[in-house]
Amino acid sequence: MRMSQLFLPTLFEDPKEAELVSHRLMLRAGLIRRLASGIYSYLPLGNMVLQKIIGIVKEEMEHIGYQEVLLPALQPKELWEESGRWEEYGEDMFKLRDRREREFGLGPTHEEVITDLVRREVRSYRDLPLFLYQIQTKFRDEMRPRFGVMRGREFIMKDAYSFDCTSQDADISYQNVYNAYCQIFARCGLRFRAVEADTGLIGGSRSHEFMVLADAGEDIIVSCTACNYAANLQKAEIGEEKDRAEKEKMDDLTLVETPNMKTVEEVAHFLHVTPNKLIKTLFYETEDRLVGCLIRGDQQLNLAKLQRLLGCSILRMADESIIRRVANTIPGFSGPIGLQDVQLIADNSLRNGRNFVVGANKPNMHYMNANIGRDFRVDTFQDIRIATSGDPCPRCEAKLKIGKGIEVGHVFKLDKKYSRSMKATFLDEDGKEKDIIMGCYGIGITRLMASIIEQNSDELGIIWPISVSPYEVLILLVNIQDKIQKEGAFELYEDLKKEKVEVLLDDREESPGKKFKDADLIGIPIRVVIGKRMKEEGVFEVSLRRTRERFLVKKEEAVGKVKELKSLP
Ligand code: ATP
Ligand code: MG
Repeated sequence: MRMSQLFLPTLFEDPKEAELVSHRLMLRAGLIRRLASGIYSYLPLGNMVLQKIIGIVKEEMEHIGYQEVLLPALQPKELWEESGRWEEYGEDMFKLRDRREREFGLGPTHEEVITDLVRREVRSYRDLPLFLYQIQTKFRDEMRPRFGVMRGREFIMKDAYSFDCTSQDADISYQNVYNAYCQIFARCGLRFRAVEADTGLIGGSRSHEFMVLADAGEDIIVSCTACNYAANLQKAEIGEEKDRAEKEKMDDLTLVETPNMKTVEEVAHFLHVTPNKLIKTLFYETEDRLVGCLIRGDQQLNLAKLQRLLGCSILRMADESIIRRVANTIPGFSGPIGLQDVQLIADNSLRNGRNFVVGANKPNMHYMNANIGRDFRVDTFQDIRIATSGDPCPRCEAKLKIGKGIEVGHVFKLDKKYSRSMKATFLDEDGKEKDIIMGCYGIGITRLMASIIEQNSDELGIIWPISVSPYEVLILLVNIQDKIQKEGAFELYEDLKKEKVEVLLDDREESPGKKFKDADLIGIPIRVVIGKRMKEEGVFEVSLRRTRERFLVKKEEAVGKVKELKSLP
């Protein structure tokens, strides 16, 4: 392609609305333009990158036996009512009516549609396993669309679904996609990590998120500094602290006044203790009971973990009136001493501590030197807090650390979640009707593109990994008015095309300064500069965008050098 013909509106200045490097560079390098909040157009260069990513995804999915389909974006409400998600998905789904007042949703995901398709066609175990995927636009009315295409309201997803006869087969299917995803992200030039994720309300047994490691990430990754344990924040387990050899001795329980001091910081400051000496007593309601949770003052409760522990589908902070009635206590001054009829779950970190400050269940009063066992009971010690840096790893002796990531992929073993509610069954060899065991697997294609830029750029612009670069080589013709330079550039351009090298020729009537700036900005990995040196010494300068390494080669060696650089890992 000749750059003079290419629709490539680059920007010199940083766009004000863009916070993230990737968002800024995608706008500046002419990859995308915004239409409305969270809605973007992809310009030729942007679209070429998308097609490269899609090519890699298709190869790897087909390699593990997946067939491509294309499912409708417009989906009838009735289907979503069958799975119970019309209500559950709520405002995140774009909903609309047709001229006959029938209600539809624009698909934010496709479990319902694919389960409907499969339940109509699959009859017997002979039709299984079945592996399908699609690459398609999804719609989600995100609460906070932001960071360009990272969190859009219209975005491209690759979604795949597996249908198996048995749970064991479904585990193999899950592992196959897991492995394929590792291949895909590695081929896209990414540093990433698969982390254990919570299955939450979806149920099912296993889930991993694929996180691109980047400070710009909205997700928090907890990982071990020694072993390969890694999980997202909701899921991250914490190992048990070693029993400290020498415990403090128990001091006498003392009731103290804490006038109007309600927060941990206020009470700790007032009583001259550190926040880790306080115990917070928090009350939560499930569909059928009230529980009290005891957490150290400097730590936070992890609701996802508590919910998993309790196995409930509703979990919310208890109403003040309920706390007063059932626990007979006062919010802000509640504590475990004297509490009856409420299950008390203490975080593991309290197990070995002594002499805590706790609320006294009386206005403006706390107890000092409260001790578990002596002054109050605890029903169970559990891991219910949010992991922080330095906490013990749940799998080995080492400590956990906290990092940030961008979720680019998510794999889920769904088990019977949709097949049961939507009656997707098959007749097994023994003639019995059974639920199909499903898995679902997503990759955010457009988010992946932005993530690649987050990890592959410098202050001057993008540095595309060659696997996803819109072109492999850029020929920078310094002065198009110079006949010798021009001839050399066009000759090389034709030679490279003949060799099936993807080449872009900057044949614009622009200043050399602008051409070099744009070259750095759009980030084509291999560059051939044709300028004065070609005229004076008969050499081309071939260089790499990433390392700035330069090679001076004779004209007739240029194609060979480019091909050599192109095949480097
Ligand atoms: P997030 O937690 O970031 O909102 P999600 O868990 O809701 O994402 P999934 O339903 O797992 O997303 O969708 C599969 C993949 O689609 C995600 O891993 C992510 O890469 C991508 N994705 C999800 N929402 C968006 C969005 N609003 N814009 C761009 N990509 C998205
Ligand atoms: Mg997800």
